[in-house]
Amino acid sequence: TPPELLRNFCIIAHIDHGKSTLADRMLQLTGVVDDRAARAQYLDRMDIERERGITIKSQAVRMPFTKSDGDDDGTQYVLNMIDTPGHVDFTYEVSRSLEACEGAILLVDAAQGIEAQTLANLYLAMAADLHIIPVLNKIDLPGAQPEKYAEEIAGILGGDADEVLRVSAKTGQGVRELLNLIVDEVPPPQGDPDGPPRALIFDSVYDTYRGVVTYVRVFDGKLSHRDKIKMMSTGAVHEMLEVGVISPEPMKADHLGVGEVGYLITGVKEVRQSRVGDTVTSASRPAEEALGGYQHPNPMVFSGLYPIDGDDFSTLRDALEKLQLNDAALVYEPESSGALGFGFRIGFLGLLHLEIVRERLEREFNLDLISTAPNVVYRVEMEDGSEHVVTNPSEYPNAGKIQKVFEPVVSATILAPTDYIGTIMELCQARRGKLGGMDYLSEDRVEIRYTLPMGEIMFDFFDALKSRTKGYASLNYELSGEQAADLVKVDVLLQGEVVDAFSAIVHRDNAYSYGVALAGKLKELIPRQQFEVPIQAAIGARVIARENIRAIRKDVLAKCYGGDISRKRKLLEKQKEGKKRMKMVGRVEVPQEAFIAALSTG
Ligand code: GDP
Ligand code: MG
Repeated sequence: TPPELLRNFCIIAHIDHGKSTLADRMLQLTGVVDDRAARAQYLDRMDIERERGITIKSQAVRMPFTKSDGDDDGTQYVLNMIDTPGHVDFTYEVSRSLEACEGAILLVDAAQGIEAQTLANLYLAMAADLHIIPVLNKIDLPGAQPEKYAEEIAGILGGDADEVLRVSAKTGQGVRELLNLIVDEVPPPQGDPDGPPRALIFDSVYDTYRGVVTYVRVFDGKLSHRDKIKMMSTGAVHEMLEVGVISPEPMKADHLGVGEVGYLITGVKEVRQSRVGDTVTSASRPAEEALGGYQHPNPMVFSGLYPIDGDDFSTLRDALEKLQLNDAALVYEPESSGALGFGFRIGFLGLLHLEIVRERLEREFNLDLISTAPNVVYRVEMEDGSEHVVTNPSEYPNAGKIQKVFEPVVSATILAPTDYIGTIMELCQARRGKLGGMDYLSEDRVEIRYTLPMGEIMFDFFDALKSRTKGYASLNYELSGEQAADLVKVDVLLQGEVVDAFSAIVHRDNAYSYGVALAGKLKELIPRQQFEVPIQAAIGARVIARENIRAIRKDVLAKCYGGDISRKRKLLEKQKEGKKRMKMVGRVEVPQEAFIAALSTG
């Protein structure tokens, strides 16, 4: 397809604002998916995605489209829709897929207004020079306020509120107009058709049958299935087995030309060899300069993962290896814990990423795992001039010789109704936040900016924010550096022994209340055993909190383990609970919840 007939666009939207529904409707309207075959959320391929209703991996679909308004001359255009993930953990992937487009649809729920993450992604799109088409969705809802939110969008983008398109992805109202608008307004791609090929990798996924499938957008020249290709960041040369487009299933093609979006299959087995952000060129006629820069996403959150059954360690190692093939952002290294045995310390982009990885490990590899409370990365400068990067709290160096400790901070943007300014500031202050500034989006909605320690917001900040604002506030944050802080390590002892997996790094001012809350929580969570279990929280040798789990009385035991009937009932209960995770720590049976109890003691 010649570039002048191509339009490459993505959809920027907050979760639940209707991106998948709109994408489905477009596929249907362009005849790519027929009405009967249209299954909801066509783009969200993985099961987990469908169940959670989120899109993890970006996808691209090619849609032929003929305009149907006044100046319709029967020309067939090709629209490439590049789906972007909507969650803050995946900002890196969003920014890659933006670079593959000339236009972006800013999709906003007409009953909700724009949300903080959407605003952040909109700024990324504007910085990448994309043409923005603002669209209000869900106008069929009784609670829709298109006038109000069109004003808000016009205030952010400039331009006229009347020009904000109103659609219902659900009923299809306005969607054809939107497709017409994409053809009219999104600039066609430009590039040198005769130059050496250059294509941007905006996604790559691992397919069990075909190896790594790499999604690219061609900028210059063409990539033919007969070429050998070269990855510009590493110089690695690969055979090309197949090129094609997705519409909506993969379809082989002879080549991809300027502006085209499609996939490559090279037979490589690791996503790492086909990295998002890298430039693909031809091995025989290589380009001199890569497109943009390649930046590897840095893990922000670390957690330990341990098999409940120690024999599963090698299965876990193999599983992580496989998973990393299709998740280049996942990093891990083996570690051992006095309490939990052999496992891995794993780095994630954020908590959602962590949850997804863990769920996939359990589901796809049939593993039962214990995970420790996630933590951020600390940098510790010692008096002797040496430096430690701490990704596991139990490895935090001895307090005496520490010169200075640094923690990561984020710049956060919160959008909320003005009524909640007070309670939001209170919350941020309690999390050691520093107010950066405030702007009004409209009379009754405000944008508040804070710098906050990453460690203070990663667990329950978002939930706290939502509950304080009746769900009306939205949050976006990005890593913005580090700051020196007065931090200490709090240890937990069971029966007088430090359990390394429970150690946490907290601000000195909060250490005491943290210790008390955690000890109390553990007392609730750890079941009574046949002996007494003292629990202590301590900073170094100084005990700051203590609790005691009393032993089970003999007569209770008799009841439990006595007759046949009660044994049966116990079995039944066990089955009902499903897989209740327990780990022996010394002589004490400790449930999974205890290892992440720190999460709920903010
Ligand atoms: P995504 O998270 O942005 O992909 O959003 P979805 O497409 O999954 O939509 C979230 C919810 O909003 C689903 O329950 C949709 O059925 C619903 N929805 C999407 N578009 C519309 C619309 O135009 N009108 C109404 N009433 N509901 C919609
Ligand atoms: Mg979706």
